[in-house]
Amino acid sequence: MFLSGTQLMEVFHRAKKNRYGIIASNVVFDTQIRAIIQGYNNVGSDGLLQMSAGACKYAAGESQDMEVGARLISTMIKTFAAQFPKCGIGLHIDHATPNYFDFIVFCLENNLVTSVMMDASQEDLAENIRVTKEVVDVAHKHGILVEGEIGHIKGTEDEIVSETELYTRPEEALEFVKKTNVDLFAASVGTNHGVSKGENIVLRLDLVKEIDDLLIKHNVERGLVLHGASGLTDAQQRDAIKYGVVKINKDTHYQMDMAQEIQAYWEKEKYSIVCPPDLDPKDYVPNKSKFDPRKWLIKGENRMQETVKSFCLVSGSANKSILL
Ligand SMILES: [Zn+2]
Repeated sequence: MFLSGTQLMEVFHRAKKNRYGIIASNVVFDTQIRAIIQGYNNVGSDGLLQMSAGACKYAAGESQDMEVGARLISTMIKTFAAQFPKCGIGLHIDHATPNYFDFIVFCLENNLVTSVMMDASQEDLAENIRVTKEVVDVAHKHGILVEGEIGHIKGTEDEIVSETELYTRPEEALEFVKKTNVDLFAASVGTNHGVSKGENIVLRLDLVKEIDDLLIKHNVERGLVLHGASGLTDAQQRDAIKYGVVKINKDTHYQMDMAQEIQAYWEKEKYSIVCPPDLDPKDYVPNKSKFDPRKWLIKGENRMQETVKSFCLVSGSANKSILL
């Protein structure tokens, strides 16, 4: 079932109280949407799907019209999620920079999403606070949640490129949350966007706890968000959740899943579309039963579904849907 903003708030409230994490999975295609929603449903977990600005442009085709793309993705998700009454699904806008302010408003006014991220982390703190608060004011009128961020997360994500890693300072996090009234706060604690091994990251999960403790002490407790979590070990993710993280973003892992499964398929079935070297091309007939896109896309889809189920088991959200 597609959640309202109020229901999503309840999802995060319970996750924070009982210390488990909600998985937020980036999607563009219908295959990914099916895989991930079915995965959440199969383990009785609520979950988020998220779309970046780049995903919305891609989904719109040659026009690159983000509003068309967002409508398409949202409609697919709502239609598909309606089949599962015991699994709460939300749709989040991932990393919208200030130049996408009007796009966010469009999504809010057309009831396309349950939450949005205003990422003004490239701006200085005062400007970040100003623009994030502006989004909060509009979003809260529509009952929609807002995620904000200070500090840059290393790596490349969609259109955001960050060269240096900058850790979030707890006192700045406190000021930011107080002044903007965001619902979710993304802390920059040394995770990487893109594939990397947990061991190589100078991960400062102690900082998550420090921020959480400070917010609680000042009566502005919030759900914290971990970006770039594809490269973290299970233990690191569990620690992050124990320290106050309620939303864990996943993108790269699914991309690898899809690519690996399809690569394996074509390695095995190559000669169903390519003439073998020992055969005269005149005698070669491609094998339609192998190259029908449904035959190979489903391999990636099934693998992604297994992955999201395992994510929910690690984060502890399995069997915790608010709709169960
Ligand atoms: Zn991110």
